[in-house]
Amino acid sequence: MAPVKLGLVGIGKIARDQHLPSLSRSADFDLVAAASRNAGVEGVASFASTGEMLDAMPEIEAVSLCMPPQARHRVAAEALARGRHVMLEKPPGATLSEVEHLAGLAASNGVSLFATWHSRHAPGVEPARDWLAGKRIRKMTVTWKEDVRHWHPGQDWIFEAGGLGVFDPGINALSIVTKILPFPIWLTDASLTFPENRQAPIAADLVFAGPEDVSVEATFDFRQIGPQTWDIIVETDQGVLKLSMGGAVLRIDGEEQAMPPEAEYDGLYARFAALIAAGGSEVDLAPLRHVADAFLLGRRQVTEPFFFDPPAGA
Ligand code: NAP
Repeated sequence: MAPVKLGLVGIGKIARDQHLPSLSRSADFDLVAAASRNAGVEGVASFASTGEMLDAMPEIEAVSLCMPPQARHRVAAEALARGRHVMLEKPPGATLSEVEHLAGLAASNGVSLFATWHSRHAPGVEPARDWLAGKRIRKMTVTWKEDVRHWHPGQDWIFEAGGLGVFDPGINALSIVTKILPFPIWLTDASLTFPENRQAPIAADLVFAGPEDVSVEATFDFRQIGPQTWDIIVETDQGVLKLSMGGAVLRIDGEEQAMPPEAEYDGLYARFAALIAAGGSEVDLAPLRHVADAFLLGRRQVTEPFFFDPPAGA
């Protein structure tokens, strides 16, 4: 099949770090255009908006959206209504209902919608799911602690309403949890810590229940200085599984398992191509639903104000 002509939208950190390198390696997609208000991509036609891009280049068959979640629904809805396949960065939107609306639009327009969860394509995730299948899972402990100033420098949108705060990385952990557990879990307790000058939490502690008295606890924190932690530990009746480095490293009873190199975004684009070829969509809202539940159930704690750069005179 000829490569699918694709437009990339929202040219910022993740577009440059991951999407452009993966697209340059992909035989499935031909990057023909970019749409971004303040940036372009060298060597391809660049536009200020998705509408202008699709007007000027009707040959574009698919778009991949890399802007923050608050800005995604309007653009995705326009592209789907105009008959284009759409791939969404995580989280797929700012609300559950808007993503469900997009899924309906994709179906009624006969195009593919792919709500991506890049961490599910980390090399340790499928092997972890396979190893856990059939075992009695007793306890799962998730620790996701990173330095927001290092990973999201100056990204104020993350602390605005709809930006998810610490759930922006935390939802990656939840995407792995919901992929490797063979049963559903539900939130029973949550504590969310908000900087007094921000609309989204900087830290969160979550407790989930599930079948057979399983205990699942998660701690997310954006204030981690020094070593960063992206770990999931699962205690079973037949040993302990540990995923670390966001799913890149897998240990069973302390023994590191051989893994292929990290290729999360290559995996995402391969999956998007397969969905387009099959005429299907993939929209799993489970990780976003757990985050929504945390905002529904969570107790609110208030902590000191957060600034990416210390205020003048401080
Ligand atoms: P970013 O660099 O702050 O934003 C990407 C681009 O989106 C910006 O450069 C901007 O380009 C456009 N944009 C920003 N705010 C917008 C708005 N209100 N309306 C329309 N366009 C807007 O963010 P990012 O780190 O790439 O993250 C974007 C998405 O990717 C998020 O959902 C994030 O969770 C996900 N993601 C990020 C990472 C990471 O490591 N950063 C990793 C995996 C996934 P213009 O101003 O040129 O329009």
